[in-house]
Amino acid sequence: MADTFLVLGDQLSFDVAPWAELSSDTVILMIESAELIDQARHVTRVSLYLAAMRAFADQVVERGFTIDYRKSTNFSAGVREHREAFTPDRLFMNAPRGRHARSLFQRLGVEVLTDKFYLTDVEEIRARKKRPTTLETFQREQRQRLNILMDGSTPLGGQWNFDHDNREPLPRDGGTWPEPWFAPLTTSEQELVNDLRHHHPGDEALKFWPRTRSQALDQLQDAVERIIPAFGPHEDAASADNWHLAHSRLSPAINMGLLHPAEVVAAVSDAFYAGHIPLPSAEGFIRQVTGWREWIWVLHQLRDETYPSRNFLDARNPLPQSWATMGEHPMRCIEGVLGHLHAYGWNHHIERLMILANAATLAGIDPQALSRWMIGAYVDGAEWVMEANVIGMGTFADGGQTSTKPYIGGGNYISKMTNYCKGCAFSPTVRTGPTACPLTTLYWDFLLRNEAALATVHRIAPQRRAALARPDRDEIQAQAPHAVQVVLAGKRNASFHLDS
Ligand code: SF4
Repeated sequence: MADTFLVLGDQLSFDVAPWAELSSDTVILMIESAELIDQARHVTRVSLYLAAMRAFADQVVERGFTIDYRKSTNFSAGVREHREAFTPDRLFMNAPRGRHARSLFQRLGVEVLTDKFYLTDVEEIRARKKRPTTLETFQREQRQRLNILMDGSTPLGGQWNFDHDNREPLPRDGGTWPEPWFAPLTTSEQELVNDLRHHHPGDEALKFWPRTRSQALDQLQDAVERIIPAFGPHEDAASADNWHLAHSRLSPAINMGLLHPAEVVAAVSDAFYAGHIPLPSAEGFIRQVTGWREWIWVLHQLRDETYPSRNFLDARNPLPQSWATMGEHPMRCIEGVLGHLHAYGWNHHIERLMILANAATLAGIDPQALSRWMIGAYVDGAEWVMEANVIGMGTFADGGQTSTKPYIGGGNYISKMTNYCKGCAFSPTVRTGPTACPLTTLYWDFLLRNEAALATVHRIAPQRRAALARPDRDEIQAQAPHAVQVVLAGKRNASFHLDS
């Protein structure tokens, strides 16, 4: 009887412990869970994880290990079947990132090791009397602790962030953006996609996402050379005509373990010191990895199982079928973002946050439904990823535990930062009447109808006062139910049958 080391689809690295210490007779267990596959809402999401897992399994064999690669009903069945077939003395794994998976494998009696896929020691933070309370304080700690872009104890360039420089709107001509990295599919990957397309919505876009470690390294190098240098100035913009702008699109590779955040940060930092990436772009990118990504993971580990059900604003409207199926929508911004999602299984963070989460918050869409959908629809979706992003920052459903104010904006802001409003049936500057932008109406209505709930949220006090002072507030509130119905409208994608 040998030991068994269980590897999940987001732990695909030979460089992370305990691989270096595994004896050669360790059996490697990998499980394709049919239940998990069925939950995923995009063919590219499913095919990416399965292709990467199968490629990793081949490499396990090349390294001389025995692999037990199982296609099971779920993880419980996979572990049970493995135990029956191999009777291991010890069954162990790196800690699953999601709360549900962690408690499941602990219940199954799998020994769980410390997760080494991150830069931060959660237990050290848990033990502190005073923990960082905001992303900004956490990120400053990270910069100092990891000595990234620092000059002694002060940040390079004399400031901690370059948000001011990094808020350029989309260029008037739409801009010129680097072509996205891709790697052609193998024959077996193409067969996998062909098979999955019968059961999962979305277009096939697997080639745009790395499935192996060598592809991930190639994408990282490409991002450092061609994409991240242009990232900073327009990181808050979005375009109806371009799905990627200058976003690195490295999150799936990092989330699956194909890249370690430390090597990603080192590559960008080195390129900055070599004069290849300007400081605002380097800092803006690095804070996404060392700051936000680590921060939401830490928050997920520190919070308990009651957190995901928070609904501070009592938002109860259903997730629109047009969103759930990535179908058609009367609002050009939502239609465009759903189109990008349908085509690639991914939106950059501004399309997720400023368009979808913003619209969901303003229209009172159930944050849990939004979170569940995003976990399954995005190639980088996961329980730990979406929790703080959706329940916390995106919808303010935690009442300010993640964000100091709701992240909301009306049509004017979207019109300033994107080109979505050109050609839309609605007008971003109009609050009431048949051409009113639903988001503009609902921005003011949100502040009015949540006045009591937001009374202690000081950072939004000026907007609340402005809403109360509006001479047309009665008309806005009369228009609001119609605006909600527009956000909830649209045509479902007929090629996709929702089963829940
Ligand atoms: Fe979206 Fe309003 Fe702009 Fe239309 S006018 S694209 S609905 S923000």
